[in-house]
Amino acid sequence: MREFRETLYPHWGQFFSIDEVLFEQKTDHQHLIIFHNKEFGRVMALDGIIQTTEHDEFIYHEMLAHVPIFAHGSTRRVLIVGGGDGGMLREVLRHNVVEHVTQVEIDQQVIDMCKRYLPNHSQGAFDDGRVNIVIDDGVEYVNNSDDTFDVIISDSTDPIGPGEALYTSRFYSGCRRCLREGGVLVTQNGCTFGQLHEVITTAERLQPLFTDYTFYAAAIPTYIGGIMAFAWATNDSSLRQTSIDVLKERFLNSGITTRYYTPDVHQAAFALPQYVIEAIK
Ligand code: SAM
Repeated sequence: MREFRETLYPHWGQFFSIDEVLFEQKTDHQHLIIFHNKEFGRVMALDGIIQTTEHDEFIYHEMLAHVPIFAHGSTRRVLIVGGGDGGMLREVLRHNVVEHVTQVEIDQQVIDMCKRYLPNHSQGAFDDGRVNIVIDDGVEYVNNSDDTFDVIISDSTDPIGPGEALYTSRFYSGCRRCLREGGVLVTQNGCTFGQLHEVITTAERLQPLFTDYTFYAAAIPTYIGGIMAFAWATNDSSLRQTSIDVLKERFLNSGITTRYYTPDVHQAAFALPQYVIEAIK
């Protein structure tokens, strides 16, 4: 039986048995493989690092999409950077109040292959009339676009290869210039136990640009090593103070059903472990 062995960490990792390889190719930007595993269903990896699996993707996509949108309260325009599998787009579009989503993905082949081999992720989201797909480097887009957004979601790979650009001050300042008044940026920022240095670096780079920056967390089984940190950055500190009653009302009014996100989980997610608090001081 062939195995996929993740290469995120040199001395520690996870493996998946491969029942069937559905697609494998070096694209113009990265190595892409999509395979089937008995435990997690269809799995996609880029450059040897797990990106998403059918069985646990709901945790990550719900937490990175719904926390900023329910905190904001009147999200009309959303920018997704990365997100080629379409799961984030699917979750954002579930909000009927969202009028427009631009998704900037560097690798067309990721979109094409995920549409074909991971259809349960996008579930037709790429064909929604509210969506504008742009194939570009996200850091170039946010520094050159004239468009503005209420919520920006960086659903990127880890800072390896093309994803590295999405963890730079140039990217974060580009996001700030594209955010509307009262807007918020959230990003995938790695698992705090094995990638704490990425959390520290992001905090250092957000600090000069945003008045309210922190992280919130969730544990996703196939992002190994415990909780994953999501960066939160805004110049409207009231967003993070949204009361539980308001969150519950917005959640109820949205008509969205979830498997992980709840208003209580939303609020609790911002409570960080002491070692992370110390690290980002
Ligand atoms: N959920 C995953 C995680 O947490 O690692 C991320 C999923 S998604 C597959 C990551 C996407 O970011 C990929 O489709 C990749 O092509 C895209 N990407 C990487 N670097 C990029 C860049 N500089 N600009 C735009 N998209 C980029």
